[in-house]
Amino acid sequence: MTHPCLECGACCASFRVSFYWAETDAHPFGSVPQQLTTTISPHHVAMRGTENKPVRCVALTGEIGQPVSCSIYTQRSSTCREFAAGSEYCNKARGMHGLPVLAPGNYDA
Ligand code: SF4
Ligand code: SF4
Repeated sequence: MTHPCLECGACCASFRVSFYWAETDAHPFGSVPQQLTTTISPHHVAMRGTENKPVRCVALTGEIGQPVSCSIYTQRSSTCREFAAGSEYCNKARGMHGLPVLAPGNYDA
């Protein structure tokens, strides 16, 4: 069975994706490419494309509800890593894009 996130991407096009600036590669231990982020406060950045409406993260490739991928998957922020498929906010995002509810479950990639 295909992992549901691989044919979705709704959460990457629904909410502001923000995190502590030190998760960017501007910090020696950060990973998220800084040029793909924008500063939103003295200590926080957001993925470009998620700070305004319509929301769409600059790192997302593909069309929502079709085969998609994150172009910085191994470098993505803790915010992205911790977003749970099948959660309340997952299904809120899916609903915003006309996708069916995903049942709670173990969808770890
Ligand atoms: S976490 Fe939910 S909304 Fe995000 S890509 Fe996966 S199924 Fe879609
Ligand atoms: S960095 Fe990747 S996982 Fe995170 S919102 Fe953007 S496309 Fe989605």
